[in-house]
Amino acid sequence: MTGSLDLTVDPIELTAALVDFPSVSGDEQGLADAVQEALGRQAPHLELVRSGNAVLARTHLGRAARVIFAGHLDTVPINDNLPHRRTGEGDELVLHGCGTVDMKSGDAVALHLAATLPTPAYDMTFVFYDCEEIEAARNGLGRIERELPDWLAGDLAIVGEPSNVVIEAGCQGTMRVEVRTEGARAHTARAWMGSNAIHAMGEVLRRLRDYQPRTVDIDGCTYREGLQAVRIGGGVAGNVVPDECLLTVNHRFAPDRDPQQAQAHLRQVFDGFEVTVRDCAAGALPGLSAPLAKQLIASTGGAPAAKLGWTDVSRFAALGLPAVNFGPGDPTLAHTQQENVPAEQITRCTRLFEAFLRG
Ligand SMILES: [Zn+2]
Repeated sequence: MTGSLDLTVDPIELTAALVDFPSVSGDEQGLADAVQEALGRQAPHLELVRSGNAVLARTHLGRAARVIFAGHLDTVPINDNLPHRRTGEGDELVLHGCGTVDMKSGDAVALHLAATLPTPAYDMTFVFYDCEEIEAARNGLGRIERELPDWLAGDLAIVGEPSNVVIEAGCQGTMRVEVRTEGARAHTARAWMGSNAIHAMGEVLRRLRDYQPRTVDIDGCTYREGLQAVRIGGGVAGNVVPDECLLTVNHRFAPDRDPQQAQAHLRQVFDGFEVTVRDCAAGALPGLSAPLAKQLIASTGGAPAAKLGWTDVSRFAALGLPAVNFGPGDPTLAHTQQENVPAEQITRCTRLFEAFLRG
């Protein structure tokens, strides 16, 4: 579908219109054009800029604080689930289709408020960006960070990813390490002449089995850490004592530790063994003690929850902004064929977001 968008209609209808604009990652141009055109026509109070297939808009009201809304325009590949479909009516209405959850309902809420609330209590920056669902190097928000950094300056970032309309904050870090044991090859008929590297890994597996992961509370969010063996390999042949065994371990760590501290912890756990870090992504502190974040929590009324996966919230956290996920839809339905969002969540999210922006 092409055509123009009406940002002033009920965000439920706006969600349906956005969903019917296919915008698989890399193919967002049509939707970005429509969003840019609609903002230009229906939100003339906003400064408007285009960056690739991202559309950026902001107020200049001279408010004491600035809130950034970030939402990606792209979706995962369509899976026989467009155009959108409806079931139920009234309070029971549900919208089905690619992007209903991840995350055109969140975009619809923000676009609607951008057009209908010209004088919010905070200055607002809206970032509708491309290529979130593919490799990080193409992420539109990363490009904006490099090319238009002042558009990401602010005091609080709200990423409209699905969160069942609950504030989700921070995220855990993740680190993969390889533990290696060494032995000496020998014929299994003369095993005493060798040393078995797989048997040597037994001690590492025992430490993993007995490991007690931490549960860490920060700003009212509970982070449950994890330390799990995820792959093991070793062995040469059916009659050879193996001389090497490799074990891959994934550690999910609470954001009170940085990657260096997490690494030091793992070296302690596997003391006496060879440990190599294969990859690592830092976590993000929830930052909910910041005044504006407290205001958001008060406006939305719910208890915040810890974010379990890694999202662009971490990108803002790395820039030093408190950042949360807040949007309609069940995150566990994201990327599934049966993606669907209850219309009631879109309405509730709009009401709570608007209450916050009215101050
Ligand atoms: Zn998403």
